[in-house]
Amino acid sequence: MPNYVIPPAPQAAIPVAPAAGESPREAQLFPVRRIWCVGRNYADHAREMGHDPNREPPFFFAKPADTLVPSGSTIAYPPMTKDLHHEIELVVAIGKGGANIAEDKALEHVWGYAVGLDMTRRDLQGEAKKLQRPWEMGKGFDQSCPMGALVPAARIGHPAKGTIGLKVNGQVRQQGDLAQQIWNVQETIAYLSRLVALAPGDIIMTGTPAGVAAVGPGDVLEGWVDGIGEVKVTYAPAVSVAKAAE
Ligand code: MN
Repeated sequence: MPNYVIPPAPQAAIPVAPAAGESPREAQLFPVRRIWCVGRNYADHAREMGHDPNREPPFFFAKPADTLVPSGSTIAYPPMTKDLHHEIELVVAIGKGGANIAEDKALEHVWGYAVGLDMTRRDLQGEAKKLQRPWEMGKGFDQSCPMGALVPAARIGHPAKGTIGLKVNGQVRQQGDLAQQIWNVQETIAYLSRLVALAPGDIIMTGTPAGVAAVGPGDVLEGWVDGIGEVKVTYAPAVSVAKAAE
């Protein structure tokens, strides 16, 4: 046993969606190592953020693994923002590591897929962009990564098309199709693996379609990707000053 001087952090993990007939009690966990995120990977979202949707090389940022929140959670509206945005995304879980992975071998490295939210403090991200500072405080804050169950590729294959969408309080806010990705999953894995050696447990958030917008306390977010699954999270209602003073 390593002689740690403080208790080690719990292992971040995503539950694996039970197969048909399997009880949740038997659910397995996918241990998460790192969370890599692709910026601007749908042309219509690149346009809404004021960027040229032409095919520039993909770029990446990261969220800490402990930003993960299981689907079904109620979470607090985060601090230091007045503009919390939703970004619904297809999530790829890497089961087999590698560097300089060839595009035509890239899908062999995928263990499974999930649906996740890249929650963004857009005001802090915007300020960071303007001042040419890092994005972490806009992207990698506590509870910024609500995540649905992981579905093994062995069960569903490798979906290259299908609706991706998000409802807030029952109203559709974001809707697109996986086929609209500027860089598809195999291209993204190949490119990212030239920058860092991918490792088992890495997950990749593959970008969001158009329609990103603000959410507030009390809002219910329900995202989905056809053929993969769902993610649902509720922001706790605001506690009024009067209520807090009781
Ligand atoms: Mn994103």
